[in-house]
Amino acid sequence: MNKIKILPDFIANQIAAGEVVQRPASVIKELVENSIDAEADSIAVIVRNAGKKLIHVVDNGLGMDKDDLQLSVKRHATSKIVTQDDLENILTYGFRGEALASISSVALVEIRTKTKNDKIGLQLLVEPNKEIEINPVNADTGTQVFVKNLFYNVPARRKFLRTDMTEFRHISDVMLKFALSNPHIRFTFYDDDTLIFDVHNESIENRINNLFGESHLDYLMKIDESVTENDEIKISGFVGQPQIAKQSKSGQFLFLNKRAILSKSLSHAVFSAFEQLLEKNQQPSFIINLEINPKKVDVNVHPQKNEVKFEDERYAYNLLKNAVKQTLKKYSLVPTIDIDLDNSQTPFDKVNTSEGNDSDILMVNKMTGEIIENKAEAPSIPQSRLNFDNEYKPKSDKFDDDNSVSAFDELFGLEQPDRKNEISTYDSNFLQIHNKYIVYQSDDGMTIIDQHNAHERILYEKAIKAMNKEFKYSQELLFPSQIKLSPNQLSLLKELKEDLNNLGYVFSFVNEDKIEINSVPNDIKSGNEKGSILELIEQYEEYSEIRHTDKRDNIAASYSCKSAIKTGKSLSAEEMKKLKDDLFNCKLPYVCPHGRPVVLEFKISELDNKFGRAKDLRF
Ligand code: ADP
Ligand code: MG
Repeated sequence: MNKIKILPDFIANQIAAGEVVQRPASVIKELVENSIDAEADSIAVIVRNAGKKLIHVVDNGLGMDKDDLQLSVKRHATSKIVTQDDLENILTYGFRGEALASISSVALVEIRTKTKNDKIGLQLLVEPNKEIEINPVNADTGTQVFVKNLFYNVPARRKFLRTDMTEFRHISDVMLKFALSNPHIRFTFYDDDTLIFDVHNESIENRINNLFGESHLDYLMKIDESVTENDEIKISGFVGQPQIAKQSKSGQFLFLNKRAILSKSLSHAVFSAFEQLLEKNQQPSFIINLEINPKKVDVNVHPQKNEVKFEDERYAYNLLKNAVKQTLKKYSLVPTIDIDLDNSQTPFDKVNTSEGNDSDILMVNKMTGEIIENKAEAPSIPQSRLNFDNEYKPKSDKFDDDNSVSAFDELFGLEQPDRKNEISTYDSNFLQIHNKYIVYQSDDGMTIIDQHNAHERILYEKAIKAMNKEFKYSQELLFPSQIKLSPNQLSLLKELKEDLNNLGYVFSFVNEDKIEINSVPNDIKSGNEKGSILELIEQYEEYSEIRHTDKRDNIAASYSCKSAIKTGKSLSAEEMKKLKDDLFNCKLPYVCPHGRPVVLEFKISELDNKFGRAKDLRF
């Protein structure tokens, strides 16, 4: 018979490490959280080999005395909670007391620390399965932690680490979130000897621009805080204008009491406030902090503490959605349809369950929260209209052949002279519907063009040709303009410079952190010169994560996606004709660079079929 035994500490810690420490980024998250909990206002993070070889975190916080230092690497040792009440009222990042114990069971850990009352610092060395060693050392007030050779003793875990680039991306993401949620703290972040950022105590607005590049704030709308002024939950932050919406959720930063959290339901709340402003599959960008009495939320759902449970999730959802809606309204971005929907008699609201996918629409009763599955229109159609008892009959002989023209005249006014002149020289059969699609009669049926996809295809082919130097595609700017860029943006621009030059973006690097733009491609509208290049490289980065195509293809796709006319723009007959002609001069007019259809054609015979008109029965 097997006897039950208590696991040795070392093994227990390693098992716990499986949950807390998944990759270098999770170590950094735990260490920086400890530094913030220790009231540091300056924190430096240095990594080597994406943290696989070394993670070094330095803070100027409270430090530890000898007893605390000794205990800090023990499991369930924490200075942050003592009683049950504390656990329900957590204001610190940490409270489980297992991070340092877990990390030191899967890596070589050294801690140097000094409190402000001590003259000399202390150094602690932990190696798995060895006695803890503490020695005096020279140190500044605060704490430094070195984590070397992560997972050196757990080869299976080490093997699961991804490439340095991927691991580094996770680290960057963690650092970005800390820097965004704590603008009062100075963060210095190095990758080997390369400085990634050094941001000082500043306003959130300046912090955002320093992290994302100078003009980023121009694309953000400040959340109207008055919406939640007297509430249990306070919402603050920024939502991105629709033009910086992304194909992924990578522009979404959600914090709860400054803790970065993931919440499907809350990010959906923002998404649904945007609903009609975004194109299919687009995700809004946002940086939002919720402030809630810690008693009303539970962050202890998971060891990594990035999931939370709300006492009243639906309430938080509605509050956030409303705050975002108010913000969009303030910036005059709420489409009229949406306002109508709010004021209408129907108590039903549409909820897209899987984001961006029209097929999963739920109807929610706004009053009761009751969910009704099925089609969008079902509940709002008044019964009386579905009454077919009185068969419809034309009242007079208005539709007789003889005077049919005047009948149409009367009904639709198509023959009114001024109406006709408006579209005179162009094919009068172009029609734009919902500011999205262009419909026209073709030789043997009807054609529908998606205006955005079509323009994307046109610009994409132009961009490719320009990069292959088949034609010149640039217009010089009368007044060259300068943009300040983040280090990431700069290094990307250096890498893409030659191709971008050929595409039509001619620029030079000034100082360490600026470029000056001298030319842009012909199709860039004036006023958007700066914006277009920023959008292009941002889109480029995003695509390089999800698409595996070559550099030029990615540049062309990014350029065309961001510069193409948007869904929602109304077009004149002339513009529609030009778009159609340009499209059919393309090599591949039928698909956009992302593989979505551009053109749909309906043959008259298909329509005849659908309407039950057999070929020989025309009546
Ligand atoms: P937790 O953060 O959940 O308490 P940790 O294992 O992360 O658990 O840390 C254990 C304890 O070590 C903390 O409660 C704190 O007292 C101490 N500690 C850890 N890092 C620091 C630091 N950077 N500065 C001061 N004290 C620290
Ligand atoms: Mg901790």
